[in-house]
Formats: sequence, C-alpha cells, structure tokens
Amino acid sequence: MEYEAVIGLEIHVELLTESKMFCDSTTRFGEEPNTQVCPVCLGMPGTLPVINKKAIEQTVKTGLALNCDIALFSQFHRKNYFYPDMPKNYQISQYDLPLASGGYVEVEMEEEGYTTTVGITRVHLEEDTGKLVHVGGAGRIAGAEYSLVDFNRAGVPLMEIVTEPDMRIPVEAKAFAQKLRAIIQSLGVSDVSMEKGSMRLDVNCSVRPKGVEEFGVKTEIKNLNSFRSLERGLAYEIKRQIEAVEAGEEIVQETRHWDETTGRTSTLRTKEYAHDYRYFPDPDLVPMELDPAWIEEITSTLPELPDERRRRFMEEYGLPSHDATLLTATKASADFYEEAVSLGANAKNVSNWMIVELASYLNAENLEIDECAVTPRHIAELVKMIDAGTISGKIAKDIFGEMFETGKLPSIIVEERGLIQISDESEIAAIVEAVIEENPKSVEDYRGGKQQALGFLVGQVMRLTKGRANPALVNKLLKEKLS
Ligand code: ADP
Ligand code: MG
Repeated sequence: MEYEAVIGLEIHVELLTESKMFCDSTTRFGEEPNTQVCPVCLGMPGTLPVINKKAIEQTVKTGLALNCDIALFSQFHRKNYFYPDMPKNYQISQYDLPLASGGYVEVEMEEEGYTTTVGITRVHLEEDTGKLVHVGGAGRIAGAEYSLVDFNRAGVPLMEIVTEPDMRIPVEAKAFAQKLRAIIQSLGVSDVSMEKGSMRLDVNCSVRPKGVEEFGVKTEIKNLNSFRSLERGLAYEIKRQIEAVEAGEEIVQETRHWDETTGRTSTLRTKEYAHDYRYFPDPDLVPMELDPAWIEEITSTLPELPDERRRRFMEEYGLPSHDATLLTATKASADFYEEAVSLGANAKNVSNWMIVELASYLNAENLEIDECAVTPRHIAELVKMIDAGTISGKIAKDIFGEMFETGKLPSIIVEERGLIQISDESEIAAIVEAVIEENPKSVEDYRGGKQQALGFLVGQVMRLTKGRANPALVNKLLKEKLS
C-alpha cells in the first residue's frame, strides 16, 4: 500500500527585547549564569508580572507578516507543570485567546517546481524556561553526576508559532521553516539562531494510506536544532511509522527525541494533553485589549518581506525565479546581493557567482553568508574583472578558494599571482603560431573537418599561458590562421 505523511510544525522563537516578558531583567545571551535575574523571573512568592509591550508589538508584527488575524482581546493563562528549570511550577502562556491566528505562508518549492501554502493556526506569546546544565557522566541526564540550573533565560519572551498539518513531505517542512526564519529576520524581531536556541523546531507527523482523508495518530519530535535534523528526523520517523503500521502495530501518541549521531528517533515521554496542564487565566494579569489604531500603526511600519523582495529581485534585476528564491532565502544573502550589485557589478553575474561558487564553499564549510571572509565587495570586484576581460572565468574560479580562505580582494590575488588575462593580440598571436607549428596532426584534422581538433589547440594555448589567454581572442586568432 502507498502511504502519505501529514506534517505540522510548532516553532518557538525568542524575541529580541531588552527586558524579559514580565519583568525588567535583561536578556543578554551568553552572560554568567544567574546574572540576568530578579525576584519576578525567579518566581519568588509575592512578586507580580508586568507585560512587556515591546514583546506584544513584535508578536503582532509577526502575526501580520504571517497573514493572521490579530486578536483585539486576548489573555495570558497559567500552564501548570513541574520542571526544575521553571521556578514558578507554571509557565505564563496563552491558551484559547492567542494574539494571532488564522494565517498562512506561501512556500516556493524551487527544486520541485511548485508552490505550497501552509496554514498558520496561531501565534502566541509565552515566557521561556531556564536551562539545566548536566555535569559529568558524559552530559547525559541519567548518568550526570549533578545538574546546575541557569535562570538567565527564564522569562525571556518566547513566541510560539503553530502550523496547520498542511505539509506532506520532509522537504516541505524544511522549506517552510526556512521561509519562516527569513520572514522573522526581515522583521528583526528575533535573531532566529538555531545554534543559540533562539529558534527551536518541534515537528508533528502521522501517516495514512494514500487516498484516506482521516489523519493517523501523530508523534512529535522535539527540539530539532537544525534544518538538516528536521528533514532527516522526519524522514526517519515517517519510515518508522509506515513500517509499524504495515506490521499491524498501533502508533502511540508520544513525544520523541531525534539523535543526530545515530540517525534515529526514540520515545521521550508519552504525550500529555491540554487538560493535563490545568490551564486557567493568570489572575495576576488583566486581559489585553489592543487598540485597532496601534495595530494600524504596526501594519504601516512592516518592512519589505521576503515574498515582496523576491518579486522585486525578479523585476528590478531581471533575475529568474530560481535565482530570486535562492538569494532571498535569508535576509543576509539578499542584503549581500543588493550591496554587490550597488557596487556596479552585473546583476545576473553577481547572482551566478553567489548561488553557484560562493554557495558551494559556504555549504562545504557549513557557514552562513555573513560568517565568511567574502564580502559583497569581493564578489562585485570579481564579476567586474571578468566582465572587463581582466581575468577569465576559469581564473576567477581558481582564485575563489584563496579569496574565501584569506579574505584577500581578487584584484590583490590576481596581481600577486600574475594572473591578469592576456588580451594583447600580438602576444597571443605569437603563441598561437607556436602551437600550430607544434601540432601538425591536429591542424590537419581541423582542416579535414574535425571541429574537436580546434578545442585541443585552444587548450594548448591555454596551457602555455597558464590559463591567462583571453579565450575569445584565442579562438578567433586560431580560426583565422587555420582558414
Ligand atoms: P496537541 O493537542 O497534541 O498539541 P494540536 O492539535 O495542538 O495537537 O497540534 C499540534 C501540531 O500538530 C500542529 O502543528 C498540528 O498541525 C499538528 N498535527 C495535529 N494533528 C496531526 C496529525 N494527525 N498528523 C500530523 N500532524 C498533526
Ligand atoms: Mg497543542
């Protein structure tokens, strides 16, 4: 039987506010443990939470960017559970009245050649928990000698975005998550760093026989910390579920853990249900009534979003859809591109060098575009030197590695290595003569109608000039002399 997967995501995003969600403790990342705390976020009895207006604004902004309806009336609830990194034994979250709901995101599946729409169920606001650090015993909870708790993160504004179960294959989930990250980057409301944990992915999936409408029982994989893990974890879990169903086993609704090194998921805990949390409205916080004029004001300050930027790249720079999608996949790469073009380099050629050469180096080193030594100025200069005929495309490829590694400008590398293209006709003509002289057999073949022989002769000129001869000139001169 053929099976189909059903996938929905829950994504947590830490907001970039100066102070925490319900108190004025600072939110700086990477500070000494327990230095960004106060009695409120430490959950001391008798303290009172106060809502951070900036966090509400950022969540409204996100909701608008995700095409959601913004709730003019909403509320915070207490979600009760015990966890040692959560000092109050409840988390202030939102339940039946989230700030935003009913949105959607369009996701271009560029390689696959279609666009899919993913519904956004809700965007709500809550507070983050602290962090446990397990010491000794190779860092495993069970084997740890002892655990330390750091409350710096406790109370940091945390936005949760829940999607409809609209995705069907792992790569759609990955593309959606990447699109969402690009949207949030352009809003500037979070640094959405998977490494720092300011963007965390939980994924739900189930399987059903193809053609059946009813959903199967889902499992949830928690805390996937890269897009690669998301895709791999999902692929594994879907296969596991199909095999279980085919063997006549029941899928148990549970939370599972993805192990990147073994490439498997395993049971973490059986699933808790909403009623287990005994949600109730937080009596310390009055419900929120947002002024429609304020929402209008936020709407009017929304920046250019990735979809609009993608369309603009196609119109303004004449780029094909494929290029525009790749370049606008992150804010950093779109900014990089526009800066390089603004330095006077040809728009399509900048795109080519970014999405082919630069992308493959970044991929190999697992770096983001703003983490490497190559800047827009490097790419602009490289493209301009090729277009001016100062270097050939082949030489540009040859020096790319050094440029990527050292951050030296291409003009410097070309100068140091003496790689400037020979475009002097008489200089090339002399070498062409010599090559013709040395290769009578190929000359004869070419004159006898064998086109490939010309390629061989061009290659010989290139070899003698160490790739520096202007290829167009070499071709022209060879043809002239041979006819
Ligand atoms: P829960 O009550 O377990 O939290 P929700 O209905 O709130 O479940 O959904 C949580 C996430 O799981 C959402 O992203 C939703 O799209 C997804 N989801 C819900 N049901 C299924 C299903 N049967 N298969 C796959 N994903 C699902
Ligand atoms: Mg839920």
